[in-house]
Amino acid sequence: MNTYKMYIDGQFTDAISGKTYLTENPANGEIVGEIPLGNAEDVDKAVEAARAALPEWSAKSMAERSDIINRIADELDRRSEELAQLDVIDHGTPISLGRMWEHIGVSNLRYTASAARALMGDSVPMRPNAIYTLERQPIGVCGLIVPWNSPILMVTSKLGACLATGNTCVMKPASISALVALVFAEILDSCGVPPGVVNIVTGPGGSVGEAIAKNRGIEFISFTGSSETGKSLMASASCNLKRLHMELGGKNPFIVLDDADIDKLAVQAARSTCNNSGMVCASPGRYYLHEKIHDQFVEKFIAAMKEIVVGDPHDEKTNMGPVVSEEHRDRVERYIKSGIEEGAKILLGGDRPVGSTFDKGYYVMPAVFSDVKSNMTIFREEIFGPVGVCVKFSTDEEVIASANDTEFGLCGTVWTEDIKRGLKIASKIDAGAVGVNTGMLVSGETPWGGFKESGFGKENSMYGLEEYTRIKMMVVDFS
Ligand code: NAP
Repeated sequence: MNTYKMYIDGQFTDAISGKTYLTENPANGEIVGEIPLGNAEDVDKAVEAARAALPEWSAKSMAERSDIINRIADELDRRSEELAQLDVIDHGTPISLGRMWEHIGVSNLRYTASAARALMGDSVPMRPNAIYTLERQPIGVCGLIVPWNSPILMVTSKLGACLATGNTCVMKPASISALVALVFAEILDSCGVPPGVVNIVTGPGGSVGEAIAKNRGIEFISFTGSSETGKSLMASASCNLKRLHMELGGKNPFIVLDDADIDKLAVQAARSTCNNSGMVCASPGRYYLHEKIHDQFVEKFIAAMKEIVVGDPHDEKTNMGPVVSEEHRDRVERYIKSGIEEGAKILLGGDRPVGSTFDKGYYVMPAVFSDVKSNMTIFREEIFGPVGVCVKFSTDEEVIASANDTEFGLCGTVWTEDIKRGLKIASKIDAGAVGVNTGMLVSGETPWGGFKESGFGKENSMYGLEEYTRIKMMVVDFS
């Protein structure tokens, strides 16, 4: 077990209270880290450091900030195997997936390093003999609150944008998977990020997260997490009318039309359902299967789910490891139980795997439900586990209405050989991103963010960077 420190004002430090908590490996229950248990006092200290660092950091040239972000990307690249292994023990991520995340994290940072030099202001040709300039400024001190799934992706997307635009920040990783962020602090420290520009405070959402939301020295929060927490955060953040960016949950439709290539798709569906044990905001939450292909698809889907290798996340052959914690396994199992009790047909899995590999870990076997109706809990709520929820439909109008019958609006996909029909359906899905014959590939270049209770604002791309800026108008009259 290693002992970790928070990172405040360029120092690796304990919580002011001296308290700590332990974090465990979800694959075997072993304690893997002792972490400072911060509270509002630590947040105050971090905000003070971030405010003090703001004038110097925001005055750096675009090229200087870009150079530093590129250095961070290089160092993350150099230490990527170490961080991927950390993800395995802290989060249960299969090693192959962990390596891919680190690679995307490096790419996110490289994007923001380039974008840092491409930010533009504007001017308005309002009247002769006057210049109206619109200056893009950093907002100030940002609160960056991240969830426990895919830690490095969350950390790099938010930090890259925050640094590129000249802001300073207080970041709070999720308590359950904080190790990657804490080791990332070493990378920041070694790459010339001045003290106080990035501060990382660990501790529970109810105290550290809430303190970030309520701190009047913070002017903007970028939050990724559940819709429920997002709503309570909005209320707390209203104290000084903070600007907010919300990346929240999803219940994403995966719509298979009667002409789709179901052999290929069933395999893809199984992989998507079990990717990161289903703990992905963009996971397909509801499989809509046209009545003509429903039965064949379900049969092939089950066969493909059986091929998913559930096992030790260190093993290169493992496709799916544990879920992140005992509490989360119990939550996924409650959803499976509710599906059965409310009358859906369970066709596969949902039980725990047996054998010495699994005895002490928090595993759930891939599950498939059919005959799911719109009033059932597994249709309506985000399960965040390896559970395929299948719904039969007959017409395009019916599937559009049902896909939109949700509080969420994160993303969706439509699969068909008839591109016109696919586009017509996609255009009517009320979500922030919809793919036709492709899944959701989140990258530095593309804006990511939902509608409705999936949030507002965008992560990544120039749109994502704009979230971290404000526009100031200046007028010069030379008439
Ligand atoms: P969560 O429970 O909402 O927690 C997210 C973060 O908020 C954690 O750091 C948590 O801290 C903190 N938090 C909890 N209560 C808080 C409060 N009252 N005030 C301020 N912060 C608070 O979400 P999660 O379970 O970690 O993550 C899963 C959710 O994130 C899913 O709904 C998923 O869809 C969503 N997500 C969305 C996206 C997207 O791009 N739209 C991406 C990834 C995940 P502690 O955990 O330390 O208590």
